[in-house]
Amino acid sequence: MGETRTKKTGKKPKPCGSSSALKNSIGVLDEVVAKSSNNRPPSTISFEQAPPRPYDTSLIQIEKTANKGYGVFAARKIPAGTLCLVEAPLIRLTPSEDVGTDEQRQLYIQHYYEALPTHSQKDYRHLCDTKKADFTRRMSIFYSNCYDMKHYGGGACIGEIASRINHCCTPNVVFSFAETLPGSLFTGDKKDVPRPSQASVGFMVFHAIKDISKGKELVSNYQSIWRLTPERQAEMSIHYRFRCDCMACEQDSPGQDGDRRRRNMIKYRNIVLTADKELTMSRKEWLMRQGQMSESERHEDLYSWLRSQVVQDKVSTALEKLTALAQLLPKEGIHGGHDLANIYKDLAKWSMRADDEVAANKWLQSELEICTKSFGSWSERVKEIHERQPGWWLIGLDKE
Ligand SMILES: [Zn+2]
Repeated sequence: MGETRTKKTGKKPKPCGSSSALKNSIGVLDEVVAKSSNNRPPSTISFEQAPPRPYDTSLIQIEKTANKGYGVFAARKIPAGTLCLVEAPLIRLTPSEDVGTDEQRQLYIQHYYEALPTHSQKDYRHLCDTKKADFTRRMSIFYSNCYDMKHYGGGACIGEIASRINHCCTPNVVFSFAETLPGSLFTGDKKDVPRPSQASVGFMVFHAIKDISKGKELVSNYQSIWRLTPERQAEMSIHYRFRCDCMACEQDSPGQDGDRRRRNMIKYRNIVLTADKELTMSRKEWLMRQGQMSESERHEDLYSWLRSQVVQDKVSTALEKLTALAQLLPKEGIHGGHDLANIYKDLAKWSMRADDEVAANKWLQSELEICTKSFGSWSERVKEIHERQPGWWLIGLDKE
């Protein structure tokens, strides 16, 4: 769905990928194997769960900007982790409605538009239209403003206030989607609870991932962070008729290192993805050579395979690159969201592969902190971390 608005988008880690740490961890692993299988896989990790902060509708205001139409601004200081905006989408396309031809999508958008109350139809018509060629106005408005829901099972949605949040490659708010909201978010007579219209289900949610001072504009990232400045600029120009002048884009001028950092981010991520695929493949091939095994033999075998040099070399490489990524993303102005959270999740996963449960727990804690800040303590993503089963990190190696 190339036309969709992808709105849709440091702590110093210890060098757990270094060869000495690996030797130590392999030593530890030997001991663990020698002791009892009760020590592995790791026990469920327990975290404190903070109560959700109530939602305050007076935090933001919509104002006209000099060059970007309307924007959303902080009416007062907004600390990182604050829930800034909750709204029911005007239109939400489900995953099955968001595939197929443009003509089919257009029918759904038209159908949902007509189901909106008259005042919401008016709000919709007043949203930014980047006048996408070959699209009707309603469809063009949808694609000028919708958020991709790829992290939420797919589909796309458009919100009235959400549409006023402008783009920045170094965002200070992050979009998420919630099917339901905890009642404790709303205080008093609950008049602030957004009411989904007939045509919409669920809620668009925005959290501050940095402290936002009073009067500053709230900005979210519309596109993939795994792109160089020229690609990002081209997409912004084609789809949104907008030129981003954020820190990451402006650092691309000669003598600056902005894109060198972004290039390294992309390179390191690819190295980790390749290491992951190779490890899965290597395990499959290894198992084919081993023939039939009982469950306990297979368990022991997994750990002796994990200790092999070829595996530990990949583990070492992945941990080194992920550790670098955990530092590079904040340097690039990315302080929250799924990408950063997934780096920490991967660090935990690969630390377990290095049999370093202490490091794994530290990284899981970092993932939890980023997810709580970005999506709320009540979010599905945070729930998923709390409910993660022992052995979750074996997916691709010993589990499907
Ligand atoms: Zn930018």
